Amino acid sequence: MKAIRVHQFGEPDVMKLETVSDPQPGPGEVLVRIKAAGVNPVDTYIRVGAYTKPPLPYTPGMDAAGTVDAVGNEVRGLKVGDRVYTSGTLTGAYAELALCSVEQVHPLPARVSFAQGAGINIPYATAYRALFYRAHTHAGEVLLIHGASGGVGIAAVQIARAAGLTVIGTAGTERGRALVKEQGAHHVFDHRTADYLDQVVALTEGRGVDVILEMLANVNLGKDLTVLAKSGRVVVIGSRGTVEINPREAMARDAAILGMTLFNTSEQDTASIHAALVAGLENGTLRPIVGKELPLAEAPQAHRAVMEPGAYGKIILIP
Ligand code: NAP
Repeated sequence: MKAIRVHQFGEPDVMKLETVSDPQPGPGEVLVRIKAAGVNPVDTYIRVGAYTKPPLPYTPGMDAAGTVDAVGNEVRGLKVGDRVYTSGTLTGAYAELALCSVEQVHPLPARVSFAQGAGINIPYATAYRALFYRAHTHAGEVLLIHGASGGVGIAAVQIARAAGLTVIGTAGTERGRALVKEQGAHHVFDHRTADYLDQVVALTEGRGVDVILEMLANVNLGKDLTVLAKSGRVVVIGSRGTVEINPREAMARDAAILGMTLFNTSEQDTASIHAALVAGLENGTLRPIVGKELPLAEAPQAHRAVMEPGAYGKIILIP
């Protein structure tokens, strides 16, 4: 099969399309024929060697959608040809085939395309876990999605809107803001303007927001604390550096800063989160947005694009 291989950590061009032998499923394993693979910022952090370091060479990618190609012994409830999406793989998603443990494979409802299916796992599971397992948010609360135009942000907009929150989203481009609005945000702001957080507070008549999902904490966390309502929570989802905060802003509001890493999710919670996501995909509440599709060989270009401003849903690779 064809697969992207990384032989040394570094710039995007360390990713090369190569021919490798087809993996074979062992007991409890499923071989998935990949129709689309999702590109996430974490794939770039791993590629440069700044995150978990897989043994070299390796094939990047955790999120994919496709069909079951073969199942190993002891696999129940899945058969060859079933449409599925993955929450991680054993051999890497940027490839024509990926070996997965049976727990990493979830049904892909008929109304969801393979390209959309590749945009489910990391974005939607992160948004869901941040909202319900970390912030314990509930219907009627006011939510600020600080960075709503990308993979996690769009997922959060759709999930939170369906759950009965008042949704405020931010994006840095006109096109991104239009998408955030179209996907269900009640209000949209431009995080590149000077006074947008004042406008957010004005919108709540000075009360502030109950929950913030923060995609760029190194830039925003200090300001986030000043726009929270009493007992407000900030969930730090993304951060690319350090930041200075005034702890008094948190004290005055009984506020909480909650860290969150998807990879800390227990097996039980992962299963539960995906059950919820599949239900939302089935009934059309969750509709992953594919902003860009590129052939697998253009993985380096996809990695450059995912780190650029001007997000618009997901970037997907097609083997
Ligand atoms: P993405 O698709 O590249 O989207 C990035 C988002 O950040 C866009 O909405 C972008 O808006 C926004 N952004 C840019 N500048 C901003 C600013 N000054 N203030 C607020 N938002 C700003 O990435 P993603 O997949 O959604 O992931 C978002 C972040 O979360 C990444 O850093 C990623 O590594 C991290 N993440 C963490 C976890 C976890 O487990 N903790 C899981 C998934 C992702 P514009 O482009 O419109 O300006």
